[in-house]
Amino acid sequence: MTTTTPFTTTSPTGTPTLIKGARILGGAVADILLVGGRIAEVGRISAAAEHDVVDADGLVALPGLVDLHVHLREPGREDAETVATGAAAAAAGGFTAVLAMANTNPVTDTAEAAERVLDLGRDTGLVDVQPVGAVTKGLAGEELAELGLMARSRAAVRVFSDDGHCVDDARVMRRALEYVKAFGGVISQHAQDPRLADRNACCHESELSGRLGLPGWPGIAEESIVARDVMLARHTGSRLHIAHVSTAGSVEVVRWAKRQGIDVTAEVTPHHLLLTSDLLASYDPVFKVNPPLRPEEDVRALREGLADGTVDAVATDHAPHARHDKEHAFVDAAFGMVGLETSLPVVSDVMVQSGLLDWAGVARVMSVNPARIARLGEHGQDLVAGSPANVILVDPYAVTTVDRAMSLSLSRNNPWHGRTLTGAVMATYLRGRLTVREGRLA
Ligand SMILES: [Zn+2]
Repeated sequence: MTTTTPFTTTSPTGTPTLIKGARILGGAVADILLVGGRIAEVGRISAAAEHDVVDADGLVALPGLVDLHVHLREPGREDAETVATGAAAAAAGGFTAVLAMANTNPVTDTAEAAERVLDLGRDTGLVDVQPVGAVTKGLAGEELAELGLMARSRAAVRVFSDDGHCVDDARVMRRALEYVKAFGGVISQHAQDPRLADRNACCHESELSGRLGLPGWPGIAEESIVARDVMLARHTGSRLHIAHVSTAGSVEVVRWAKRQGIDVTAEVTPHHLLLTSDLLASYDPVFKVNPPLRPEEDVRALREGLADGTVDAVATDHAPHARHDKEHAFVDAAFGMVGLETSLPVVSDVMVQSGLLDWAGVARVMSVNPARIARLGEHGQDLVAGSPANVILVDPYAVTTVDRAMSLSLSRNNPWHGRTLTGAVMATYLRGRLTVREGRLA
């Protein structure tokens, strides 16, 4: 990324750090003192000799971002991404915690596998990597994975998902919801009825899919599972999360369910907030994603749902792919796109520039809510004395042009390449330590 606004810091990694003159959540201007991994003080603070002073004039301070949905590909596909490269991309994007989906090889369906992902994340020192446990063994949709052992492991897994696959058997879904209730877990559902949208489905089912000759992926394949699962959540009294909602109908169902007091939350991806299905007319596989890009009316409903709180969180579904998996004819290419480094700029562009959300709202949907859904107590906290020093500085007016070659991710399947976006992450602090400055590792 290139940026037009300078950012200065007098020394790269020293502690304590004094951030001077940031706008807290885009509001009042204050100084923030980070000491020993915590926020020591917020207010008017005089610089002392031992302080590493950061000039944050004009920058917005937010709690470190939390991503409920990333694919880091390790173990198994280290040619596409590793935990280390994914963590670097996450830190560059302003994240201090990410949830790593279970569809690796081997699958994260045991306590040992979950602890291994946790440790790989710790080794990076860049971002907290919290493993998501599989709901079913091998993501096969039949037999429950070791949910309790994963929850009691060092990784303390609370989010479970077969993402990439739908838990389509209602009996299995019911049992999973009942099981995780005991330890405050949540099932994150990839809602896709396989009989309505099979593995080949790759284009929003409409006149467009007919014209392009691509297998249709109708909204009802998502909505019918969302509707079924909110009723299962009500029946079990358990906690349900809907991954990557993509249609107006899903937003309607979640809105209704919340009014009934059903314990359901939902996430939307940056790409479903901005990109539309007509991009598929290019047959460019970079736009192939699951669920597929949707038409304008769905995009509008997703933005409105995010603004009014029906949709709780933005999650990237960062899905890096090696060139040889993505560069195929559209129907044969892998599903997914990268998104960690561009998430905040897209949300800024789509939601803040339009007035749908203020910066406090961005903090809510990109940090506070996802941390609460994942039960990550050290993230998504208020920027007040005593909180963990997980803080980012954002330039709300920086104009950036996305350059996929500049990414810290190993993969280049970047649908934002060449786009100009307003709003950029200038610095990320994980427990008081500067991890990234202006898109580069500190
Ligand atoms: Zn998914």
